[in-house]
Amino acid sequence: MPKKLMEFKAFIPKITVSKRNQRKIPVLFALWLILLPIMAQQGYQAKLPDIEKKTYYTMEDFGRVDKFDIHIHINTAQPYFIHQAIKDRFFFLDIVDDRPFGLPMDKQQEVAIQLLEKYPEQMSFATTFKVSNWNQDDWVAQTISHLEKSFAQGAMAVKIWKNIGMDLRDEHNDFVMVDHPRIDSVLTFLTKASVPLLGHNGEPRDCWLPLEDMTFSQGYYGNHPEYHMYLHPEYPSYEDQINARDNMLKKHPNLNFMGAHLGSLEWSLEELAKRLDAYPLMRVDLTRLPNLKLHTFNDWEKTRKFFIDYQDRLIYGTDTAINPTDRPEDLKQRIHQKWLDEWKFYVTDSPIELEGYGELRGLKLPGKIIDKIYFENASKLLGFNTKG
Ligand SMILES: [Zn+2]
Repeated sequence: MPKKLMEFKAFIPKITVSKRNQRKIPVLFALWLILLPIMAQQGYQAKLPDIEKKTYYTMEDFGRVDKFDIHIHINTAQPYFIHQAIKDRFFFLDIVDDRPFGLPMDKQQEVAIQLLEKYPEQMSFATTFKVSNWNQDDWVAQTISHLEKSFAQGAMAVKIWKNIGMDLRDEHNDFVMVDHPRIDSVLTFLTKASVPLLGHNGEPRDCWLPLEDMTFSQGYYGNHPEYHMYLHPEYPSYEDQINARDNMLKKHPNLNFMGAHLGSLEWSLEELAKRLDAYPLMRVDLTRLPNLKLHTFNDWEKTRKFFIDYQDRLIYGTDTAINPTDRPEDLKQRIHQKWLDEWKFYVTDSPIELEGYGELRGLKLPGKIIDKIYFENASKLLGFNTKG
């Protein structure tokens, strides 16, 4: 992982002192004390030539600041995305999950390990666990042993996916929710191992609303009625999903947790704030950007205040899926443009168009807060400094 900490050892001089010169030691020592901070400063700048602490960043600073995208899904061993990340000074977390489509979970993990070997400075990966064996007596033991193996292979976090709560059923054909006692055993293990959990629990609230009441999901759920929970009242409700997640956090107060997609509370900053207040180790990623833009469109001051109040709990991420391509330049351009557009929203107060609504102003967050949501909060959650 990126090492921003100075190596002070490099600045300790090797001096052999003859008796004649011993008198000079206090003088040299005083000189050394004066020079140390200057040298340290220069050493720091030599490693990170472009970073100066600014009150506000600009568009020009995009390529000069180290940034972290905590929500990426890589489905190919092609390195084009990583080449662009290096160019844009983006580090990232590749998240493996147990989805029923696309590249299977085990293949996702193989790709992650393969890329990690080649680009250990640029990326980390999060593993997950399967539930197809849920009804076997030793599910907990199997799961923990799989996780231990994954940590040994470099995984730094664990993803828990919406299939728990929305798909998985127990031997009585009841839905298994995320606060199930068997999952507790796994979460107790993660807490002891100091490994963070990333939770994609439930779906956006839109999923449970009629099409005409949705904010951004009409197209998706219109095309996928099978996933549109409003049409399936026999499934757990939105509130059931949120309650189960909250209950899980209540039972595991020492678990480092990041709720993916604004913790599925994208529709209300108040509801999200309540959870962040109630669960001090909960963070959320910012992957529901249209919702954040809508909050900003409706009330710029209030949205900006939310970012300031919860600056230690919000983590930048895009939920980008990287698939194999024979047009690498297009892929790189698309990723670069997306990162750049989002930087504009957080860093400047330039006009930004929100389709279907109108124009809003960017949040223009102070540089200190940008550093947190774009790097430091991810680094604390994933523990770069301790696991480096
Ligand atoms: Zn995702």
